[in-house]
Amino acid sequence: MMSDQLSENLEKLAAKEIGNVVFDELLSRHNSWKIGGSADLFVEPDSAYQIAEILRFSVAKEIPLVVIGQGTNLLFDDAGVRGVVLKIGNRMADINISGSTIVAGGGAWVPRLARMSMQAGLSGLEHCIGIPGTVGGLVMMNGGSQRRGIGENVVNVSIVDQVGRAKQLTRSECDFSYRYSALQGTGCVVVSVELNCSAGDVKKIRQGMVQDLCLRRHKFPRKLPNCGSVFLSSTEMHTTVGPPGQVIEAAGLKGQRVGQAEVSQQHANFIVNLGGASSMDVLLLIARIRQIVQEKIDFDLCCEVRYVSPQGEIIPAHIKADKADKADQFGASGK
Ligand SMILES: Cc1cc2nc3c(=O)[nH]c(=O)nc-3n(C[C@H](O)[C@H](O)[C@H](O)COP(=O)(O)OP(=O)(O)OC[C@H]3O[C@@H](n4cnc5c(N)ncnc54)[C@H](O)[C@@H]3O)c2cc1C
Repeated sequence: MMSDQLSENLEKLAAKEIGNVVFDELLSRHNSWKIGGSADLFVEPDSAYQIAEILRFSVAKEIPLVVIGQGTNLLFDDAGVRGVVLKIGNRMADINISGSTIVAGGGAWVPRLARMSMQAGLSGLEHCIGIPGTVGGLVMMNGGSQRRGIGENVVNVSIVDQVGRAKQLTRSECDFSYRYSALQGTGCVVVSVELNCSAGDVKKIRQGMVQDLCLRRHKFPRKLPNCGSVFLSSTEMHTTVGPPGQVIEAAGLKGQRVGQAEVSQQHANFIVNLGGASSMDVLLLIARIRQIVQEKIDFDLCCEVRYVSPQGEIIPAHIKADKADKADQFGASGK
């Protein structure tokens, strides 16, 4: 339940010039798992100026705020978010190419960015063609495929920091490493990114992209809602026990279910929503996978997917999953 004070502050915020605003927006409409309750206030800004205004107001009034892109790496709680969800999407999605430099808005759709770079004869983003998120989310997660990350191509990132100041960070300040950037956990908003690519042959670049898409079509579940790879991979993991999908399959967990959440029959590092899965179904399934892999293979799987709490914290989903599992056992034992 929203407090009167929060409700009053959200009314005041919504009355400002901050882009598109919707009260009580269902978050299941804004993530690829199709899970989650409603956000008290859902905002899609048009500019860095509006973002700064929203952040300053939220900090001053202590309103919880969550930044999202396409929600392809997020698990929202069934209770939703008591505060603001700020979506950086197609209102901030310009892409400009000049020579080997690309400047893309934080809300730009990654496959579109990859396609435009290919059409301009620029190589380097082939590995991003099948990633269904926004540029802001990709930079935040240092996403990529074929063991690469977007950070390799970043020149600088324009952000609005947690308290509403516009800043530009260099690649080294972003401190990119495997699925990590120093932007994580800072509460900043990625407004745009400057990328550098190398000149290449359009035909070859297109071929690389088609190959990547074919591989994905073959390997990944496409019909049921999912959030891509649930667990993180790493070089150390590959050399010791293998990639997460292989490890989960070897532990006999393909097809394992909690409620309406299922370990995909097609790729074991994916959890699919069979229809109406709750956030608790997914969390308990994550906890079960971790526990069985720990017992059978002696490896501690950590999540790439982030859980968003009703209070607006964003944490790796396994941290919440372990807590949810303990609470569930406690409840089940009737203590
Ligand atoms: C079918 C499928 C395949 C996938 N394949 C891959 C893959 O090959 N490689 C890979 O790396 N990922 C993959 N993913 C995961 C996901 O697409 C990426 O992590 C993507 O970069 C997330 O972008 P998003 O816009 O959806 O971000 P969201 O899921 O909305 O958010 C992810 C994180 O970024 C933050 N964030 C988002 N936008 C901004 C912004 N503008 N400013 C500040 N913070 C922001 C959020 O707060 C959150 O912490 C896949 C997902 C699916 C569903």
